[in-house]
Amino acid sequence: MDSLPLLGLSLAELTAWVEAQGQPAYRAKQIHSWLYQQGARNLTEISVLPQRWRSELGSITVGRSVIALRSGSRDGTVKYLLRLGDGLVIETVGIPTSQRLTVCVSTQVGCPMACDFCATGKGGWQRNLTPPEIVDQVLTVQEDFSRRVSHVVFMGMGEPLLNLDQVLAALRCLREDVGIGQRSMTISTVGVPGQIRRLAQHHLQTTLAVSLHAPDQQLREQLIPSARHYPLEDLLAEAREYVQVTGRRISFEYILLGGFNDLPHQAMRLAGLVKGFPSHVNLIPYNPVAGAGFERPSPQRIQAFLRILTQGGIAATVRQARGLDQQAACGQLRATQQQTA
Ligand code: SAH
Repeated sequence: MDSLPLLGLSLAELTAWVEAQGQPAYRAKQIHSWLYQQGARNLTEISVLPQRWRSELGSITVGRSVIALRSGSRDGTVKYLLRLGDGLVIETVGIPTSQRLTVCVSTQVGCPMACDFCATGKGGWQRNLTPPEIVDQVLTVQEDFSRRVSHVVFMGMGEPLLNLDQVLAALRCLREDVGIGQRSMTISTVGVPGQIRRLAQHHLQTTLAVSLHAPDQQLREQLIPSARHYPLEDLLAEAREYVQVTGRRISFEYILLGGFNDLPHQAMRLAGLVKGFPSHVNLIPYNPVAGAGFERPSPQRIQAFLRILTQGGIAATVRQARGLDQQAACGQLRATQQQTA
């Protein structure tokens, strides 16, 4: 275990680790609290531990990243590029409101799904993130804002359901060790066959967000290459299972791309598709990505689309754009940095 980072370990696992070194169990509680509540980056910082043991612990990695770039926007949103142990860089975003501090976490370095409108998808996939690398993002935002994180959305770089085991381990740690309620966490997926069903079998109370983006299979395939191997009806059937097993409503994410999927007949089609489905539709005005060839619709068109949904009895809202002045869309900050590096 010495080579493993400590972050991600439960109190029981830390206790076993501490006892294996001939230390009393209560030392594990102290380490647990310093790691997850106080955000210790190094075990030698933990001043309540005996001096002699502490000096021996210097070589044990906690598993914290380094902030390579911090970019704040006028609305208070802060976007970070975090450098991992192997030098690769990921994005994390801290989004404050008066009531909440939400962290948008990455689950992979890059992403293999290659969605047409997504900056991360354009850069390819490097590797999956480990549980400590996911938990670290939350602790980094907590430390930087000097404020407790209340919500976590798995909407950063990567496809969480292609890294489900590690995402589940990170969720456990965020829930039990960091103390964030499962209902305050959202996993967002574009859909991977069989994986929503697998997630449902864990009976979590975590919100599932499904990135729909089109009201029919044909249009969806044009935006999302992986949709060719995952018919919309199969995706919706799995989403329905998630609702049945967990009792939780689904969020449907729908990016609005001007002239492509924001037409009135498409809104009507979307309303028909999700009618009666215990869900909420989040309309996300497209954040322009260089070279993607899409446009953000005008505010009037966005409102017209919303109106058709609400008049059709669909619960829907437009997601307010945050941090637009600092490359807010998924993967944009990293893409810009790589171009200028
Ligand atoms: N792979 C997962 C999670 C990461 S993307 C998923 O697809 O859901 C998180 C959300 O950001 C998705 O709904 C995605 O479609 C959206 N997104 C990606 N690029 C965007 C852009 N340029 N403008 C607006 N939303 C974008």
